[in-house]
Amino acid sequence: MTSLDAVVIGSGPNGLAAAVTLARAGLRVQVLEAEDSIGGGSRTLDLGPSGFRHDLCSAVHPMALASPFFREFELARRVEFIVPDISFAHGLSPTTAALSYRDLARTADGLGPDGRAWAGLFAPLVENIDAVIDLGLNQLLRIPTHPVVAVRYGLRVAEQGSLLWNLRFRTAAARALLTGVNAHTLGRMPSLPTAGAGLLLAALGHAVGWPIPRGGSQSIADAMVDDLLRHGGDVVTGVRVQSLADLPETRATLFDTSARAMDAIVGERFPAGYRRALGRFRYGNGAAKVDFALSGPVPWRNPELRCSPTIHLGGDRATLARSEWEVSRGRIPASPYLLVSQPSLVDDTRAPHGAHSLWTYTHVPQGCEQDMGQVVEDLLESYAPGFKDLVVARNSIPASRLSHHDANYIGGDFGAGAVTLTQLVKRPVVSPRPWRTPVPGIYLCSSSSVPGPGVHGMSGWHAARLALAERFGLEPPALALHATETVTRPGKRDIRERA
Ligand SMILES: Cc1cc2nc3c(=O)[nH]c(=O)nc-3n(C[C@H](O)[C@H](O)[C@H](O)COP(=O)(O)OP(=O)(O)OC[C@H]3O[C@@H](n4cnc5c(N)ncnc54)[C@H](O)[C@@H]3O)c2cc1C
Repeated sequence: MTSLDAVVIGSGPNGLAAAVTLARAGLRVQVLEAEDSIGGGSRTLDLGPSGFRHDLCSAVHPMALASPFFREFELARRVEFIVPDISFAHGLSPTTAALSYRDLARTADGLGPDGRAWAGLFAPLVENIDAVIDLGLNQLLRIPTHPVVAVRYGLRVAEQGSLLWNLRFRTAAARALLTGVNAHTLGRMPSLPTAGAGLLLAALGHAVGWPIPRGGSQSIADAMVDDLLRHGGDVVTGVRVQSLADLPETRATLFDTSARAMDAIVGERFPAGYRRALGRFRYGNGAAKVDFALSGPVPWRNPELRCSPTIHLGGDRATLARSEWEVSRGRIPASPYLLVSQPSLVDDTRAPHGAHSLWTYTHVPQGCEQDMGQVVEDLLESYAPGFKDLVVARNSIPASRLSHHDANYIGGDFGAGAVTLTQLVKRPVVSPRPWRTPVPGIYLCSSSSVPGPGVHGMSGWHAARLALAERFGLEPPALALHATETVTRPGKRDIRERA
């Protein structure tokens, strides 16, 4: 490649979404990635022993099916998504669980006295899911395209994000089932950001399901790299960009880095006011990741958990709220919230025959150095006696070390910026176009910008479309697969390593 039009720093889902969009518009694009492998938070690695494949970060992908970018890109034609009957389960105790099925009516049936209340909460969102997605995955600072749905969604967020949250449900099961999803967004509960994201995710569970990609989250990144390479793009791994001097001359540079890293790289070319705003952008509490290679399936005491690929543990609503409050106070919770994915229940590429891989993470304070491996193992043993005997290997990444695998996750903050009410509006600055920076041609395209964390590619798509219009006078390109195109997984030979 002799001359370039655009450089993307970072090959996470947002960086790749940006690169694909630019390349599809006919530009010459290069992606520079610090790590040795592509995909950022969408990577699946051999963490050992041989034959086990673990998702390093993301594992479960309702947003990949729902995202307007991925729909345009026809991701579901490029990656095999396995959509389980059970979207997610909540283990209230070792013997009691609540289940959210893909099917809303079946979920309501299972919730007994709270069935009607659950259906009443979700039916209007599921029926208008495209409008809800538009609200959740686009810029907040605008007049909503569907005001009636916006009001319905807003009222529900206000209810579940405030002290009114206990009015709707009578049973511990329904309360915990929803709170387990709200807790995906790290923060005190009840709160508007946790409820907003939780209601979107739970509604997606009924509208599109909570799919597991065959081959792991890596398949999503690979599908984008495949498309990028076909359209003349290029990816180089092992390049950690530290200054603008490391970059070739181009008309557009897109940062799939944290806001803080972009500030350090661009430095004084940014005006002082913008640098102050980036300096005020706050990083949130963290995730401590623990993966297991198992010689057999998890022997859950509750048989319903044996067939649920995604499980939340952490007790009832009050216990979950207490645990997240403790994290917000800088403490490791006495009774931690645990997210569990059992991908090998539905995907035979993740473990040798008869064996299983198990993905978990738990919430801890920002930068927490504690290895949570033993705590997580003990918790799983209490829900599944005999679990410990199945452990062939355990791989634990404390929050303080998550950034050693992906520099965006400062102190374990998997949002690359806390998801608070303020920082949903100011991400990282208050602007109808928060992806644009004051330096012409420099854009922020990571989850440090709108709409925030998740494998949806939306920040990258927004930033790339802005760059196309502002720097090249080009319209957004079509992203769909051509009728005759087939997807091939990029091999080692396709990705260049730093010379
Ligand atoms: C433990 C965990 C579990 C998660 N689970 C889910 C889930 O189940 N579902 C879901 O939707 N989301 C999940 N997420 C969130 C999701 O992974 C992220 O929100 C998403 O990957 C963000 O995409 P991104 O492109 O903005 O950044 P990233 O995916 O973080 O990619 C950023 C890339 O930039 C590179 N980079 C950074 N700095 C530099 C530099 N200076 N030079 C060159 N390269 C650089 C990094 O190495 C990385 O490859 C999870 C995250 C974590 C950590």
